Amino acid sequence: MADKLTAYRKKRDQKRTPEPVPPKKPLPKGNDDTFVIQEHHARRLHWDFRLERDGVLVSWALPRGVPDDPKRNHLAVHTEDHPLEYASFAGEIPKGEYGGGSVTIWDRGTYECEKWSDSEVKVVLHGSKAQGRYALFRTGGDQWMIHRMDPPAHPEADPMPELVRPMLATAGALPPADQEHRWAFEMKWDGVRAVVYVDHGTVRVVTRNDREVVSTYPELRGLAEFFGDRTVVLDGEIVAFDEKGRPSFGTLQQRMHVQRPTASLLDRVPVTYLAFDLIYLAGTSLISKSYDERRAALEGLGLDAPRWTTPPAFEGDGSAALAASEAQGLEGVVAKRRDSVYEPGRRGAAWIKAKHVRMQEVVIGGWKEGEGRRAGGIGSLLIGVHDEEGRLLFAGHVGTGFTARMLDDLAATLRKLERKTSPFDDEVPRSHAKDAHWVTPKLVGEVVFTEWTGTNRLRHPAWRGLRPDKDPADVVREP
Ligand code: MN
Repeated sequence: MADKLTAYRKKRDQKRTPEPVPPKKPLPKGNDDTFVIQEHHARRLHWDFRLERDGVLVSWALPRGVPDDPKRNHLAVHTEDHPLEYASFAGEIPKGEYGGGSVTIWDRGTYECEKWSDSEVKVVLHGSKAQGRYALFRTGGDQWMIHRMDPPAHPEADPMPELVRPMLATAGALPPADQEHRWAFEMKWDGVRAVVYVDHGTVRVVTRNDREVVSTYPELRGLAEFFGDRTVVLDGEIVAFDEKGRPSFGTLQQRMHVQRPTASLLDRVPVTYLAFDLIYLAGTSLISKSYDERRAALEGLGLDAPRWTTPPAFEGDGSAALAASEAQGLEGVVAKRRDSVYEPGRRGAAWIKAKHVRMQEVVIGGWKEGEGRRAGGIGSLLIGVHDEEGRLLFAGHVGTGFTARMLDDLAATLRKLERKTSPFDDEVPRSHAKDAHWVTPKLVGEVVFTEWTGTNRLRHPAWRGLRPDKDPADVVREP
């Protein structure tokens, strides 16, 4: 004869799991007043919500935990009844077993039942974290929702921001030596800037042009596990390291354009998120806190793993930091004023970037066929940048720095953008315009170069790669 725990026992082998697996016996009689919420780091992080009822723990899995806000219902998936003993269970379920992963007790206490039917349950929770009236209602099959009926649980808390554009640095000289004590110095990382949002099991990775790219960098989904029920917004840079262990934009190119990387690509070209700022943590916005306060809170998170880490910040000696960055083959340093607040989307004077090499983002407006080995394919790209009025001005051509693979990819992409007329708003010299293939100016790339000429041309530009994280309209001459 099956009983209420048959489904529970079927999924578990007492010899392999530390979970309680009681033998079949008459169910104990309780008071129908205990609840427990367990944080369960299984294949996917979730919270198990259990209410004692008629001798078992009636259970739901909550992928985003218990809602704090009556305006935001959370999904609750009804699961098999659990034995009453489970209310005190915490431990490690071995990998490969049902629900493999760690279980901790997130909250536990008593509850009062206001209503109990097959499709709706209303309770008042008296826990240390979960307090107040909640309704669970069935939406179909084992799918339910959980709704908070009381006002927001933490009315004093700042809401988690939906979108924070990253604060930007102004190119310039390092602060003078007698001002250095007001500044912190960080290495400038050569990768893709990204703000990461972690919220109860979900991770969003958003680039500067507001694109969500977590599917491109799925290793960052592991941050959900790391943070558990702490909601966090981080600012940082996604980088890939070359064989010498230096961040390499060239290496990262192999990942930037791939929507769903294969396991072998993830293995061959892993990325690391270098988290250098903390914008929001567990109900508190840090936007108006000083750099020093945000930095201390960031270091307190203990981000120190192969796929995410907090790079060091140096105090005091800017020229030493710049020399160190050069010795390590890095782009340069970013000086940040220690008393400055976080200014989303702003390029202000509180962050200053000093670089060893000059780089410029460019918009591709056309291409010319190559000769010899490159016959029929791309020989060079015709590139431009916008002026203050938003006109796309021709800035020269770039014919070096490409790998064969980059040229093949570019050729395929550019063919789809081909058009009859020049997209540049000024006249392209005849020597360049002759036999040019024009394209709609949608692609942004990056070049290194030596200097701007008096006629608005880049001298000796070399290609670094595409920047799908940048918008063509934002491409202007860097100061
Ligand atoms: Mn579970």
